[in-house]
Amino acid sequence: MKIGSTIYLDHQATTPMDPRVLEKMQPHLEAEFGNPHSKDHAFGWKASDAIDASRSQIASLLGSDPDEIVFTSGATESNNLALLGLCRRNTDGRRNRILLSSIEHKSVLAIGRVLQTQYQYDVQLLPVDDNGRIIVSELERLLDEKVLVASIMAVNNEIGTIQDIPLISRMIRGVGAVFHSDGAQAPLAIDVSTITDYVDLFGLSSHKIYGPKGIGILYIRRDLQNNIEPIIYGGGQQNGIRSGTLPVPLCVGMGIAAQICNSPEAEDERRQLEAIRNEFVKNLLSLPWEIIVNGPRESAKRHPGNVNVCFKGFSADDILGGLQPHLAASTGSACTSGVTEPSHVLAAVGLTSLDAEASIRFSLGRHTTQQCLDEAIALIEAVLRRSQNLCVAR
Ligand code: PMP
Repeated sequence: MKIGSTIYLDHQATTPMDPRVLEKMQPHLEAEFGNPHSKDHAFGWKASDAIDASRSQIASLLGSDPDEIVFTSGATESNNLALLGLCRRNTDGRRNRILLSSIEHKSVLAIGRVLQTQYQYDVQLLPVDDNGRIIVSELERLLDEKVLVASIMAVNNEIGTIQDIPLISRMIRGVGAVFHSDGAQAPLAIDVSTITDYVDLFGLSSHKIYGPKGIGILYIRRDLQNNIEPIIYGGGQQNGIRSGTLPVPLCVGMGIAAQICNSPEAEDERRQLEAIRNEFVKNLLSLPWEIIVNGPRESAKRHPGNVNVCFKGFSADDILGGLQPHLAASTGSACTSGVTEPSHVLAAVGLTSLDAEASIRFSLGRHTTQQCLDEAIALIEAVLRRSQNLCVAR
């Protein structure tokens, strides 16, 4: 996909909104502006019906009931609500340990630090192997009846690792702990229609699935809902779990985006994406420099649109700079951009700081074509050649 003249390969940072999403949002930005919590007139009833429809579409994507879906502002808030909410209401002191995978998004790791320093929880990081997969023997060793919650993302945002959720779930639930999983990157990578058989808390962000920004959800298993202390208090909307007037256009947009992810074509789309991704990786690796794939080698264990490679001896920032304005990719999690420390995910899978700083994530999406990827290879080759010549000239 080209936006103007730029090839867009940063779909794991955010996706463009699907035109079908915008079309369904439009009336709610205009004539159908009612407050969904107004009980006394048709404006409110209509808005409330639109929210119910959206909640059902999202529930159907995740195989849950609609009343287990709580709207939030995005996956960051969902992660906060899940972990802070659960820990702040856990007052009996029997379970005081928390396990987080070491490749979690910063919004989970940062909450872990708060829980450790302000709430006296014993927070431990779970190591991963060089594919980014949880080391099962370590999980087994660290799990016991003192663990309140373990948080392991379903699909990683930097290296695309897909975890074995059924196995991990059995282990975590085996000691009576709660299983929280950050699902922000999951719906485009895997079939999530039975995910709620395995997880207790699961968050999504709409803008990662071709929906609007500023809206997400947290799935909260019904019998856990009384165990979650809100992080936003107010008028008691959404059963008091998350107060505030719901943004109807955004909720509607997320519902349609979820419905599209849940359509029969979704699996074909994933397989097509995987095929062009694999071809792109093959072409990258055939360039005449040392280029190494970071993360899972096996296609089946990796987000079908994710590529993360190390351009040995180069600087990722220089390459990305040299690619402007023709190609948009990133050094990993957009949320850490601007911070100079190397990616904690690449460090966790064993890369040195130097190799991490030479690594780039290209993330392909629904409209990425083979032609765009061929052009991308030519652009990358030209930039590598230029920077190599510069090094030699220096
Ligand atoms: N978790 C993961 C895995 C993500 O990729 C992101 C977005 N980078 C988030 C959480 C946070 O999402 P948001 O910024 O939409 O709240």
